[in-house]
Amino acid sequence: MSQVNSVIVVGSSAAGVSCIRQLRNGGFTGSIRLVDKDKHGAYERPPLSKQVLINPQLKSDDISLVSGEELAELNIDSYFGDKVTNILPDLRKVIFESGKEFVADAIVIATGGEARRLPIEGSNLPHVFVLRHFQDAINLRQKLLPGSCVAVIGGGFIGAETSASLSKLGVSVHWLNAAELPLSHLLPRELCEKIVANHCADGLNLITNCRINKFVEQADGSISILFSDDTETLNVDAVVLGVGMSPETPYFSDHVSAKVLNKAMGGIEVNESQETQYPGIYAAGDVAAVIQSDGSVLRHGHWQSAQYQGERTAASILNKSLPAKPVDWFWSDQGDLHIEMAGEILPTEQHLVVRHEGDWPVYFSVLDNRVVGAVSVNNPNAVRAAMRMIKNAVNIEPSQLADTDLSLRKLMRG
Ligand SMILES: Cc1cc2nc3c(=O)[nH]c(=O)nc-3n(C[C@H](O)[C@H](O)[C@H](O)COP(=O)(O)OP(=O)(O)OC[C@H]3O[C@@H](n4cnc5c(N)ncnc54)[C@H](O)[C@@H]3O)c2cc1C
Repeated sequence: MSQVNSVIVVGSSAAGVSCIRQLRNGGFTGSIRLVDKDKHGAYERPPLSKQVLINPQLKSDDISLVSGEELAELNIDSYFGDKVTNILPDLRKVIFESGKEFVADAIVIATGGEARRLPIEGSNLPHVFVLRHFQDAINLRQKLLPGSCVAVIGGGFIGAETSASLSKLGVSVHWLNAAELPLSHLLPRELCEKIVANHCADGLNLITNCRINKFVEQADGSISILFSDDTETLNVDAVVLGVGMSPETPYFSDHVSAKVLNKAMGGIEVNESQETQYPGIYAAGDVAAVIQSDGSVLRHGHWQSAQYQGERTAASILNKSLPAKPVDWFWSDQGDLHIEMAGEILPTEQHLVVRHEGDWPVYFSVLDNRVVGAVSVNNPNAVRAAMRMIKNAVNIEPSQLADTDLSLRKLMRG
């Protein structure tokens, strides 16, 4: 691509903000605009299902990703509270709901995703909430006072975190799951059982294997949940949906969408330099579907990956060598449980090694004497050690990992 003198970054979250920082760190002196439809500007999303629900004093500034002072120091033009309605990649033009237009040499699309709603009647009722934006968390916090009753739907991390946080707040929580065991599509089964038992002991009412037919609003605004198998109706003050997210890409024409969107999983297809098939148009973070060297396509939905892809995009715009891929890392805070995960947890039992260390066992996935994944609860050091093992492809016997007489610090050195 020819000389880049101006960049527009659409989306001021993990991917967008890491991109602007890295552009300036990398010596870019041209103009940078950071734009977002959210009037609250640049803030962290992970606290929305955790601290923001629990602490009524928290404001968006308390979870800010980049302060006004830093934006000024970095000489970034920010423009918040106006939605991008059209991106014209051929013209490298961005058009906003207000009618405003910006043109730049490079456009970085970091628009993340929107929370999914269930495709059933009543899914859009006023007291059926989702959690993706700061305002969502505030709306929920205002509705749910201690003593009220909520149904949280979804057996993934957002459902687990939201349930645990609301329970801490003194709300009576029904945690509804389509599966038999929440989190079991993400973590080793034995660990899920322990985590779920812990949540239930803290007062969550877990309902599994449920199929919801519809939500019906009552005269007082409360919600009745009707199940497909005609089991008893559940009445609650509010419902929270934690059923995943969809990449946010409504700003492309049909013609552009057909060219750039991944058909199987949605998201904007990019190469490993984060560039779309339109030169100068990049995508990073939750919205990006990254084509790997073997032709497969990966779309991540967690903070570290969004942050890293932002950095990678900046390097790509600056025509510098791309930063090395970090070992994949993720965390989840569920009440008093701090879960960390690295690499890939294989679904196969025979590759699982359990290390009984402290109150919570640590689980490793091991393939051909190499650690490929790990997960711990309230033991971040174990996952840090596993990340070193994964990164350096340390040769290790499963029996050594399980042996608590051998320290992980020693083992990670190989
Ligand atoms: C409640 C919650 C809890 C989470 N907890 C964790 C966690 O504990 N650990 C973890 O690793 N990950 C967690 N995540 C995931 C993590 O926050 C995301 O992966 C990360 O925020 C993705 O960053 P992003 O920059 O790609 O997109 P997003 O964070 O989705 O940001 C996209 C931005 O683009 C803006 N935008 C969208 N469309 C437009 C438009 N048309 N015009 C202008 N602006 C637009 C949006 O307003 C938004 O600010 C959590 C996510 C949520 C929602």
